[in-house]
Amino acid sequence: MKRAIYGDDHQSFRSSVREFLDRSVVPHVEQHAAEKALPRGFWLEAGKQGLLGLEIPEEFGGSGDLKDGDYRFNAVLTEELSKVNASLPSCVGIHADIVAPYLVELTTEEQRKRWLPGVAAGEIVTAIGMTEPSGGSDLAALKTTAVRDGDHWVINGSKTFITNGYSADLVVTAVRTSPEKKAKGITMFAIPTDAPGFSRGRKLDKVGQDESDTAELFFEDLRLTDDDIVGELDQGFIHMMQNLPQERLNCAVSNLAHAAQILVETVQYTKDRKAFGQGIGSFQHNKFLLAELVTQVEVTQAYVDQCVVAHSAGELTSTDAAKAKWWTSQVQNDVLDHCVQLHGGYGYMNEYRVARAWRDARVSKIWAGSNEIMKELIGRDLGL
Ligand SMILES: Cc1cc2nc3c(=O)[nH]c(=O)nc-3n(C[C@H](O)[C@H](O)[C@H](O)COP(=O)(O)OP(=O)(O)OC[C@H]3O[C@@H](n4cnc5c(N)ncnc54)[C@H](O)[C@@H]3O)c2cc1C
Repeated sequence: MKRAIYGDDHQSFRSSVREFLDRSVVPHVEQHAAEKALPRGFWLEAGKQGLLGLEIPEEFGGSGDLKDGDYRFNAVLTEELSKVNASLPSCVGIHADIVAPYLVELTTEEQRKRWLPGVAAGEIVTAIGMTEPSGGSDLAALKTTAVRDGDHWVINGSKTFITNGYSADLVVTAVRTSPEKKAKGITMFAIPTDAPGFSRGRKLDKVGQDESDTAELFFEDLRLTDDDIVGELDQGFIHMMQNLPQERLNCAVSNLAHAAQILVETVQYTKDRKAFGQGIGSFQHNKFLLAELVTQVEVTQAYVDQCVVAHSAGELTSTDAAKAKWWTSQVQNDVLDHCVQLHGGYGYMNEYRVARAWRDARVSKIWAGSNEIMKELIGRDLGL
């Protein structure tokens, strides 16, 4: 079905993103997987290409005010990255779609000057640190602390599963500043990773998404000042909640684009692969299955597109974004599981994209708020 949400500007941006990815990224994805990280060269080239500054005002090196809040450009970028693999939209999404709004919307002029040009250029790679070893779903219970000591804050604690954690230069981190206040006692700090007291664990060994780095981060008597606070003291939980619609929508766009691309490749495979003298896609079972999967993807696309349009108009609610996030992750995992089956034994071989896509997708039901948490929020919105 023809999608109605994109105009000529979005499609020409799509062409330039695709051209960049084909030329500068696709030839290197095996190297990314072997190194379990995107190299700094990737970030710098993506910065030069203008892909990291969609949220950042022009005066700080981005194109945020040119696109005037039109999230369709972000969606185009996420879709094209997702067609290559699931790690790229995750790493770039965290940096450009999830962390950047914190640094643009909640910062002082001095902080914007300090951070934004480097973020847009790919010279400052960012990460977001919310999850701790003791838990990620119950964010209000986080244990990393910042204690006042004269003009300083002294930070102690740790974060885990942090995307870009190994390569990041700056980590926007949720820290407890008022122990007695639970959700109302959390503050966001931007922690430079060269600060004394900061250290990282190893790159975590994940089931999928080999191309991205995911790390544990440790803070030991790490000293920052008020100038490193992002937003308001003790308002970190509210700041995180305000950014959730965009974070969830980013996931939804990526989940669906990733599955849709592998489904296209799978349809072709079922035409080429022969058994009993005919293409395996032409057996009625498989034909009906593919008909169902294509329908599932296209109908889901209509909801996600509606969310993209709503978010561009500043109207997407975090509940509707939660629906998009859990539903697309379920569709993605269902579709990719069937795609593996349709590939037979080759579908289980890592050298086939479908196998890696299937592994890569599993986490989408867990991260950025698990499907259970999304349903909990939707249920609460129903007054239950
Ligand atoms: C590859 C990867 C990358 C990640 N990147 C980042 C990142 O960049 N930054 C970051 O901060 N975090 C990141 N995360 C962490 C991720 O967001 C958390 O793993 C997720 O929020 C779940 O938290 P948890 O792992 O502590 O699970 P828990 O909170 O311990 O949950 C365990 C299980 O219990 C369920 N559960 C918990 N509470 C409820 C409830 N109230 N009702 C029903 N079920 C419930 C959960 O749904 C889950 O199934 C990443 C995780 C992974 C795997």
